[in-house]
Amino acid sequence: MSYVFSPAPVPSVPVVGSADHFPVHRIYCVGRNYEEHAKEMGFTGREPPFFFMKPADAIVVVNAGDTGQLPYPSLTVNLHHEIELVVAIGKGGKNIKAADAFSHIYGYAVGLDMTRRDLQNDMKKQGRPWCIGKGFDASAPIGPITPAEQAGDVANAAIWLQVNGADRQRSTVTQLIWNIAETIEHLSAAWELQPGDLIYTGTPEGVGAVVRGDVLEGGVEGLGTLRLSVV
Ligand code: MN
Repeated sequence: MSYVFSPAPVPSVPVVGSADHFPVHRIYCVGRNYEEHAKEMGFTGREPPFFFMKPADAIVVVNAGDTGQLPYPSLTVNLHHEIELVVAIGKGGKNIKAADAFSHIYGYAVGLDMTRRDLQNDMKKQGRPWCIGKGFDASAPIGPITPAEQAGDVANAAIWLQVNGADRQRSTVTQLIWNIAETIEHLSAAWELQPGDLIYTGTPEGVGAVVRGDVLEGGVEGLGTLRLSVV
């Protein structure tokens, strides 16, 4: 069997302490998973988790110590940053119970759920899908994946984002409404998780706009930092 044209390369993320890469299957994202962020978006913060997706090839990989380039996307005048803890699935499954969830995790990374907020808000108002606001090209910057056994106490880690050196977002992973294990339980009830899936777990309060020339630097304690300039 041959293809009618060459298949696209497999998107992948480097692994800390290894020459091997983590091949990306799907990107799932959790909406409004920190109470103070839900409130700033006009919601109560108390609702079942909900999910959306980004294409696997929307990742922008930035190695430790590098400054990546984030292309300012088309059609928007309100590009927002959302710093997030990313969970990398190493063992698939469906209907995974929260108590078993950690055995399915390969590792963790720092990610940005970049959002065309104006387009997302238009779609919300019209009851239409969020794809154009969330799933655009280069909408999922990510740093290297730290294997779980080297990642420390991620559930209690600090999470933060600075723009041009000034704090925009600062919280802790303990503030998640649906914690990592609960998120995997809910997500795997809706989709069969596969090795290579990434889960962007949600963003704390303080989201805001960036423009060309801005430098974003964010991190999760124990997982290093992710640095990009908007071009
Ligand atoms: Mn998000």
